[in-house]
Amino acid sequence: MQGQHGSYGKLLFDKRWRDKRTNIIKRDNNLCRSCGVNSELEVHHRQYHFIKRLRQFKKPWEYEDHLLITFCGSCHKKGHQKFKVPIKYI
Ligand SMILES: [Zn+2]
Ligand SMILES: [Zn+2]
Repeated sequence: MQGQHGSYGKLLFDKRWRDKRTNIIKRDNNLCRSCGVNSELEVHHRQYHFIKRLRQFKKPWEYEDHLLITFCGSCHKKGHQKFKVPIKYI
């Protein structure tokens, strides 16, 4: 989740995101959902939602849990190189 959102990086230090992230990783049993390792885990957004009315993206922690998935750093990076996260305009 780099680029496109400008200040997105800063939001990832927000407590609301850290709590959400912890919950998702716990839900995924502390394992990368792609290769199964249990180190360097990161949470990936399967979609980005752009709120038309507010003309901005949702905050990272505002997504429903099923749109979030745990990956290790390496699978996460590979995934982003291969696929573009779809943007939904809501
Ligand atoms: Zn992995
Ligand atoms: Zn990602």
